[in-house]
Amino acid sequence: MSERIITPDTLTEDRDDLTIRPERLEEFVGQEQVKESLKIAVEAAQKRGEPLDHILFSGPPGLGKTTLAHIIAREMGVEIRSTTGPVLEKPGDIAALLTPLQRGDILFIDEIHRINPVVEEVLYPAMEDFFIDVMIGEGPSARSIKLDLERFTLIGATTKQGLLGAPFRDRFGITCRLDLYSPEELVRIVTRSARILKIPITPDGAEEIAKRSRGTPRIVNRLLRRVRDYAIVRGDGTITREITASALAMMQIDELGLDELDRRILAVIANDFDGGPVGAKTIAISVGEEVRTIEDVYEPYLIQIGFIKRTPQGREVTLAAKKHLNNPDPQKTLV
Ligand code: ADP
Repeated sequence: MSERIITPDTLTEDRDDLTIRPERLEEFVGQEQVKESLKIAVEAAQKRGEPLDHILFSGPPGLGKTTLAHIIAREMGVEIRSTTGPVLEKPGDIAALLTPLQRGDILFIDEIHRINPVVEEVLYPAMEDFFIDVMIGEGPSARSIKLDLERFTLIGATTKQGLLGAPFRDRFGITCRLDLYSPEELVRIVTRSARILKIPITPDGAEEIAKRSRGTPRIVNRLLRRVRDYAIVRGDGTITREITASALAMMQIDELGLDELDRRILAVIANDFDGGPVGAKTIAISVGEEVRTIEDVYEPYLIQIGFIKRTPQGREVTLAAKKHLNNPDPQKTLV
């Protein structure tokens, strides 16, 4: 995903985010199967008095992987340390994180598919036999020493399970795939967030935001904050369906939650490549985005709503997508 720029807006977002982030499994909406297997794993580990197995979460960004890692730490009553794959460059980086961990503590690695292969090699014995080999010194006097670790739990999160090699993936005892949320689940999430942030919202306002949030809790919460500002300035502060519709029209988010870039992606495939098939790389170049962003952030939702089909030859747009693109006034279905 593109690097995040820190602005006053993102700072408020971070602060709000900590308040609305669910802290216990029962507050976590949806993903019932995942919650059930985690509940069993946590309870079993507690009954045996043993640390949890290593866990791998996969799925598009913003679906709750980080949130679940923190919930698990709380449910287990252990400490959690967090890092992300791309910052782990050398074996020493991972050694510094692993050695202070106490028995049962959690190391959370976001974007775990992006760690350096040499770090991955160090992780194998750490995950399996709880030791690491570190090199001390350089040149001919360099020697390796073995450091024993406490029995920790590694929780990895990835947007792309396929990018993790089989030997790495197999070392996780529990693997959970998170799917996009249904509009009903998003209504529950946005209603809960509004209650915590004390934002007045009508049921049809919540429905409208949920419908346009691309199946993603992070987006539902972001839109909630944006529409709140609009409601304060243009309305009486209450988020209604009408206020949501005009706020999102201003932000160029259409009735399906698609933004400018989604529409450009569809238009490129439909118009420049005659409906497809066309490779993700070519699409990325045409719209000026990174391939990763297209594949991780944009495509899953466009596939879910049946606008894009993945074929072995590349991506194709569907008739439904073409109809949507040709709708001269995307807002007209609103009111
Ligand atoms: P990921 O790690 O998958 O990118 P996060 O765990 O950071 O996603 O989730 C993004 C935000 O969405 C969280 O801060 C949380 O407030 C909210 N969220 C995610 N999943 C849920 C859920 N199931 N119920 C309620 N809120 C959720």
